[in-house]
This record gives sequence, structure tokens and C-alpha cells, in this order.
Amino acid sequence: MGAQVTVLVVDDDPAIRLLCRVNLELDGHAVSEAGTLDDARDAMEVDRFDLVILDVHVAGGDGRDLLAELRRRKPDLPVALLTGSANRNELLRTGADALIPKPFTLEELRDTVEQLSRGRRLGGRSVSATAVRSPTEYEQVLQRYLFERSEEGRAVRVGEKEVSEQATIVERYSDLFSREQLDALHAAEESASGDERERLYRLRLTCEGGLISAELAADQDALENSILSSRLTWRGEELPLRAAQARLAVLDDYGDRDELGELHGRANAGFNPERTTLMTAGEELAAELSGEPDPVRRNEEEKGISLRELEQALAGASDAYAERWEQLRDKWFERLLGADRAETPSSSHVAYMRRLSPLEPIYTKERALAVCIATLGALGFEIANEPNIRLDLDDRPQKNPRACVIASDPPKVVHLITRAQGGLHDYQAFLHEAGHALHYAGCDPGLPYTFRRLARDHALTEIFSYILEAISREPEWHTEHFGLSKGEAAENAEATTFVEGFLYRRYTAKLRFELDFWGRFAEQGPQADGYAESLTAATGVAYRRDAFLSDMDSGFYSADYLRAWIRSAQLRTFLVREVGEAWWRRPETGERLRELFREGTRPTSEEIAARLGFEPLDTGPLLGELRR
Ligand SMILES: [Zn+2]
Repeated sequence: MGAQVTVLVVDDDPAIRLLCRVNLELDGHAVSEAGTLDDARDAMEVDRFDLVILDVHVAGGDGRDLLAELRRRKPDLPVALLTGSANRNELLRTGADALIPKPFTLEELRDTVEQLSRGRRLGGRSVSATAVRSPTEYEQVLQRYLFERSEEGRAVRVGEKEVSEQATIVERYSDLFSREQLDALHAAEESASGDERERLYRLRLTCEGGLISAELAADQDALENSILSSRLTWRGEELPLRAAQARLAVLDDYGDRDELGELHGRANAGFNPERTTLMTAGEELAAELSGEPDPVRRNEEEKGISLRELEQALAGASDAYAERWEQLRDKWFERLLGADRAETPSSSHVAYMRRLSPLEPIYTKERALAVCIATLGALGFEIANEPNIRLDLDDRPQKNPRACVIASDPPKVVHLITRAQGGLHDYQAFLHEAGHALHYAGCDPGLPYTFRRLARDHALTEIFSYILEAISREPEWHTEHFGLSKGEAAENAEATTFVEGFLYRRYTAKLRFELDFWGRFAEQGPQADGYAESLTAATGVAYRRDAFLSDMDSGFYSADYLRAWIRSAQLRTFLVREVGEAWWRRPETGERLRELFREGTRPTSEEIAARLGFEPLDTGPLLGELRR
């Protein structure tokens, strides 16, 4: 229960005013009412209020005009906007401290007043950083925070907004990420058990991550912005660094790719000093906040697995795969890069190969959506009519071409965003993201928010994206949708398996390097030793030594991908056994997946292995798929 405060409710609907007044008075607050904006102005001339609840549409005016006045004249007076509009971001940019959606529940009303009054009691908005919430309150506010951050990120990513204003959201919620709050969550966790302990652990981890990113946000933005504004000159043309990188995927001439790739690699490595500083600072903070100085052990604890055992299992499979890999590599390097390629081509050609450019005329941009919808439909998923999934397939100039899913508030608000470019990669990307979207949109709404949105890592949700993407490796899928002969279909499916094999070997080598890197970090700081050697030997492509920092995922993300790889192959084997070879076009598959989706983000990847009847590190099914 927060402080008792004086509230002014401004709304032209007497029923809403009454509802607010009666309920807030029950909580001990003093409430006044105003039915017009002028009445509200008059009331504020006469009386002092601790907070204002303001409807966006008040008879004869716009509540946002009054809000703007208040922001100038009484910047510390908290204002909650009542709104039926879905565009929360837009409204929050008006400077409101909170939004109360219409229709609202009494909890939402009381909770908002409680929060705003608490902030005030502690001396206004700017010094709210010492407020400590109970875990349940924390989870509620976190849900709103992540919703706003997600929606802001979405608007920028899809090209609706040109400037990212994440910092203002972070600032508004700065009290979510304090050391006091972290300690409180930790204490609650220590005394809990079972699922509750897991929930508190994830909340604590989120708080810890937020503290680190708050501390580093300014430096991170600075690095990001200097990379964004950096240009290189190629054949008289000024190219932003990111555009040069994108260009590498579509340049048809081998020599051009080598040349541009070299320029890009050199410019990119120029930011390594800043990357080193950030990485060192982030590592120090993580060690201090978590109390675990060893980065490998810390990540093992978070993921609940042994990274070194994982690495050993993967290396074993990679060795067993070597012979088949070399055949595939020689054949597809020849097909994709031509006979004049260097014996060990540079990594400048990787994006071009991944796109499987020579197959582009078959897998057209125009058909991508219809084919993917039909593919998912055969499993019983009506992705276009799924009420929780919002598809954004538009082609806007500023829209990021990389497909993604933004789970703003699962299961209810899940965005699936793609922008077709042409080529088989579009189809694979859509199916991959559909796996994430169906997972988040299919979780049980009765689960606590933590188990709908937060995970220890990404290893679980990637199982579902991988299994749907794996459909594009079924030869019959190519016959069915593209009218190819059996021979052509088998050939194209093999091309996708080549890409898969390439990535598998690359990630396995990356994990090995990252384990070495972090193992010596405390004594030597960031060192490139082993990076280029290990990746080059694994893939047959020459990697640059100075790319080691920009190629590093935070938190051993490579391990999450690799676990999902192992698991989705186990899942496929399971489906073949239970549903049949045609698992990829049977509604029974959809039903089984739905059961897994319902559990949200709660299970670990290793728990899924047990349900499928496999040992977590059993790479047999994966090896079987790669060798196909
Ligand atoms: Zn994914």
C-alpha cells in the first residue's frame, strides 16, 4: 500500500469518475473530479494535487493539451493517461508517467496510483531509483517496461520511426534496475523452492542484465552510432559500413566480393578498441553483481549445463561428419563460387553462399508468403488468422530486411516481421520466425508472466524455429510447392543441408574459441589467438583474425543455437517415429507442437530432450540429418 495521496480525476464520463473515486477512496486517497479540461485547470488553481488521472478525450478538448501544460508548469506532478488507444508508445511520448488502458480493471487503476504515489513519496520521478518492489509487483512493472521497449524497438525496426527513443523508456523505469532491487529479489529467491524459485531466479537475472546495460548504455550507443555513421569508399562510391556488409550477399562477381570484403573487414576491425573497453567493463560488472568471477562457470550456471561437455559432444559429431562435409563443401563451393575461386576462399563470400544465389529464380519473392502459409496450414497452423500474431510483411524503405519476432506481451501481442528479398532464404526465414511466433502466441495465458516471456537463454524457443525451418530441407517439400523433378528437388534440398553443415561447423568452432577466450580472459584480457585458425579449419573459409570481437555473441549465444540444433534434430526423429516420414505436412505434428508451446518459456531445452526420450547430448539424430 503506497502513500495516501490527493488525486484529480479528469474525465467527461461521470461513470468513470465515480468508479475511480469510490475505489481510490477505499484505499484511503482523497479524490476530486473534473468533467472538462477547464474545470480541471480551475481545480488545480485552488487545490494542490499529488497526481492526476486524465482521459485522452475530454468533451471539448484533448487531454494531451492539458498534459503538455502540466509538463511545463508542474513537471513533477505525476499524470496517468486514460486511453482506449492501442498506440501506447505514441501516448507515452506525450510525457505521461503511466497509461491506464480503457477498459481497465480495478487492479490496474489501483496499481498505477500506488506506483505513482510511491515515486512521489520518494521525492518525485527523478529519484525513484531506490524504490524496491515485491517480486509480484516487480514482475507486473517489468511486463509494462518490456512491452514498451519491444514496441519501440518494433516501430524503429519496421521503419515507422526514424529515431530510437529507448533511452527515455529506460529512464522512466530506472527504478526497476537497482542494486537494492537485485538484493530483494535475491533474498526472495533464496527462501523459495520449485517453480517459484525458478521464477524469482529469472526475475533476478533480468534485473542484473538491466543493471549492466544501464551502466553501459551510453558507451554502447556511442559505439553503435559510430559504426552506423562510418563509411568506406569503394570504386568511388561512399558506402555505410552496414550497407557494404549487405552488398556482399548480392554481389555476383567473385573479385568484387573479395575487394569489398577486405575494405569492410579492415574498417570493422577499427572499432576493436571500443569493443574491448565495453567487453571488459561488462565482464567486471557481471562478475561483481553475480558474485561469480569465472565467466565460463557463470554462464554454465545460468544455462544449467556444462559448456565443456557440450563442446566435447559437438566436436565428436563434427569429426564424425568431416568426410561427408568435405564432399558437400567441395561440390557446393564449386557450384556457388565457381572454378576460379581461391583454394581457401575468404569469409567475404559467406553471405553470398548462404543466400544460395544460383537457386534464386525458382524460389521467387512473390510466392514466399503463399507457400509458407500453405506449409504451416498443413500442420494445422493458420498463421494469417491467428489472433495473437500480427504479421508485418510490408516493404518499407527503412525496414530492416532481417526477419524477426517481437513478443511484446505473449501470448496476446506477438509480431512476426519479414521483408522478402527473393531466394530460398526468404522461405526459410519465414518458417523459422513462424516457429518463434507460434511458440509465444501459443503459451498458456494462465502462466505467470515470467514463464510466458523470460527464459534463462534462447535454447528452448530456437528448437521450435529450427524444426519449422527444417521443413525446407525435406526434398518432397520442394517437389510439392515448386513443381521440381525428384532429382532437382533432392539437389536443392542438399544445398540447404550444405548451408546447415557449414553453420554447424562454424558454430562448433566458435564455441570452442569462446571457451578458450573466456577461460584466459581474467589473466590476459581479450585475445584473438585461435579464432581464425579454428574457424578456418572447420569451414574451409578463411576468417580474419581481427574479426574475433565483432563475431562474438554475448553470453555464449553460440551454445544456445547448438543446443537447439541437437534438440530439433531429436524432435524431428521423434516426429518421424510418432507421426511418420510425412511429419512435416501432418496436423498431428501441429498438435504435438501446440502441447509444447503451451508450456511457454518454462521448460529447459534439456527437459524437452527427456520428454522426447533422448539424452541431452545425443547428437545421433543431428548427425543423421547432416549426413543425409
Ligand atoms: Zn531464431
